[in-house]
Amino acid sequence: MTQLVRTAIRVKGVVQGVGFRPFVYTLATGLGLTGLVGNDLDGVFVEVEGPAATVGDFLLRLERDAPPLARIERVTTRALPPRRSASFAIAASEPRAGPRRTLVSADTATCADCLRELSDPADRRFGYPFINCTNCGPRFTIVRDVPYDRALTTMAAFAMCERCAAEYHDPADRRFHAQPTCCPACGPRLALHRADASTPAAGTPAASDPLTAAAELLRQGRILALKGLGGYHLAADAACEQAVARLRARKHREDKPFAVMAADLAAARRLAEADPAAAGLLTSPARPIVLLPRSQEAAVAAATAPGNRQLGIMLPYTPLHHLLLATVTRPIVLTSGNVSDEPIVYRDDEARERLAGIADAFLVHDRAIHVRTDDSVARTFRGRPMLLRRSRGYVPEPITIRSGFPRPVLACGAELKNTFCLAQDRHAFVSHHIGDLENAETLRSFTEGIEHFRRLFDIDPRVVAHDLHPEYLSTKYAVELDGVDLRGVQHHHAHIASCLADNGENGPVIGVAFDGTGYGTDGTIWGGEFLAAGLATFERGGHLAPVPMPGGAAAIRQPWRMAAAYQDADPNSPADLDLDVVRRNQDRWAAVTAMARRGVNAPLTSSAGRLFDAAAALLGVRDAINYEGQAAVELEQLADPAEAGAYPAAVEAGHPFRVRGADLLHGILDDLTARVPAPVIAARFHHGVAALIEAGCLLMRGRYGLGTVALSGGVFQNLLLLDATVSRLEARGFRVLLHARVPCNDGGISLGQAVVAAARDRLC
Ligand SMILES: [Zn+2]
Ligand SMILES: [Zn+2]
Repeated sequence: MTQLVRTAIRVKGVVQGVGFRPFVYTLATGLGLTGLVGNDLDGVFVEVEGPAATVGDFLLRLERDAPPLARIERVTTRALPPRRSASFAIAASEPRAGPRRTLVSADTATCADCLRELSDPADRRFGYPFINCTNCGPRFTIVRDVPYDRALTTMAAFAMCERCAAEYHDPADRRFHAQPTCCPACGPRLALHRADASTPAAGTPAASDPLTAAAELLRQGRILALKGLGGYHLAADAACEQAVARLRARKHREDKPFAVMAADLAAARRLAEADPAAAGLLTSPARPIVLLPRSQEAAVAAATAPGNRQLGIMLPYTPLHHLLLATVTRPIVLTSGNVSDEPIVYRDDEARERLAGIADAFLVHDRAIHVRTDDSVARTFRGRPMLLRRSRGYVPEPITIRSGFPRPVLACGAELKNTFCLAQDRHAFVSHHIGDLENAETLRSFTEGIEHFRRLFDIDPRVVAHDLHPEYLSTKYAVELDGVDLRGVQHHHAHIASCLADNGENGPVIGVAFDGTGYGTDGTIWGGEFLAAGLATFERGGHLAPVPMPGGAAAIRQPWRMAAAYQDADPNSPADLDLDVVRRNQDRWAAVTAMARRGVNAPLTSSAGRLFDAAAALLGVRDAINYEGQAAVELEQLADPAEAGAYPAAVEAGHPFRVRGADLLHGILDDLTARVPAPVIAARFHHGVAALIEAGCLLMRGRYGLGTVALSGGVFQNLLLLDATVSRLEARGFRVLLHARVPCNDGGISLGQAVVAAARDRLC
């Protein structure tokens, strides 16, 4: 008889809620092995018993054939005495105790198997909007605690029917231990509520089938509030000019583009161009909104993305989306359910209250959302995905940091586009998109989110990293914590460290951090920075020459003020400016110029974002903005892609050196006088910025001997600038690091803060 061996196996990583136990069960029984498998706080534990060769085969296939959503980080084995067990069993989950080291998986788009059942009239889940399985469905948004088991999700409220329970307990079934599994007999239900104020009992469900009725309302040009995975959306017929305009007016959102949901890839391609990389992103299990070049003939209302050559498109990611799109039979606008800049609404009661003035009807269900999670936003650059907002579908998957965290870290992030990050061992858990920390509701999301992550990943931070800006609410939160070591991290250093972490590198590099605003170590506002940076430390090697921001925050909202400040700072500027921007702001131009000159309420800034603002105002793109970065976005849209000319900018030697951004604006003035078309001027400005980055990097290479450049900061969301910059740097022999998994904007700051804090810890 063959010698029997028994091996204990421990599997760590994303192994719960992804069909790992059924996979192990099927694999072991298929090989004729006995033993057991179970979930605990550490991940998955397995014991297998059989001939040594077969156990070896099992171990090989365990890693090679793991389920699609699993992410194995480590497998360890230990020999046990054989027990001559008779079968292979699935052990019950252990009760909560001890440290929790398991990972929770992200929400995942409906899989192909579930879609087949959804459209099969013979299937008992035919047309059921909440179909899911071990390979797909809600995860992070419904998890209240770990281990990941139904009782600790918002599905606990639904008792499984006999048939669902049978599937759940059958190791051969594809819903074996699928925690959110359900069916029309036992699971969540849809309901349609009219917001019609003339009906006394507002909230009475519509008589007909809710889904068909909701689709009919959309087709009539009505606005629908739709309960999704991570919050409420507002939907409207994307082709209907009045519906989209009405949505904009009611939501108080003037220009910021809306995203569009198309039924499938073919429908998406009728709206925009999707190359293979973009198509891969669109159809990935995370299903982000993907920014794509809009097609000329796209049948989309002008109000969807005013003045924008791009369109944000996503494909259905829940069965409800699939059913709704199939019934409406045309693309719909799908935008966050909120008013203006408030966070996305996710509780039913607040939805009824907050969205009552916007939506004509509510398509809702009774499965609670535990964590508010916005849609993620991505795009591709040279065939590579780049996340601009990392949230639903990606969170809470950790980013692995090889050098690790000597002590547990909480990084509080920035003020705008806030995320926080909790990190321990080799894992950095960057949070979902929290938003702009400027109202009580967002601040509550921030503090509650931190508590939730601490519980889920059992991290008790000893080190707390924060921005240097004393007025950021995230900074104030950090400095009020007791019993922790505080680490202030400069904003642009955090940007570059974030880019390093994104690329799995430690530096040192030349860090080019171009963004709107960040507090500098000298108390001025930085934002056009050349840093010699590693993870622990940095030196400011150069920057854009500072100019005053007349009116402070008012200068951010009104780009024409930056045009005035830059004109005033330019010694070669003609005394009598014959410019439209001056005429448009005639009544205040002199006063704002005087304010800039006196330096009263006019803080100095080296911000690249403000340089773009000044250029946009000079060119007449816009004098005031309705959302962050709007002037720069529109300046990019205006630029002629065929124009390659670049305005020169002088560098004032010194340590740090200063690049004269005002020279670019002087180039614009000369071309305006010569009546050069605006698209050509816009392009020359972009190439001018790329050229000044190239010049700065050459100086940095000369001074520090560094050959790698990391590009970070929100300004690099500008594809024209990014492309021109990368081309110039690569032509000069630089290796260029870009963001991919975390945003280059302030959404990536928390990760940067966390790795800087850890690097300083290692130095101690
Ligand atoms: Zn599925
Ligand atoms: Zn059922």
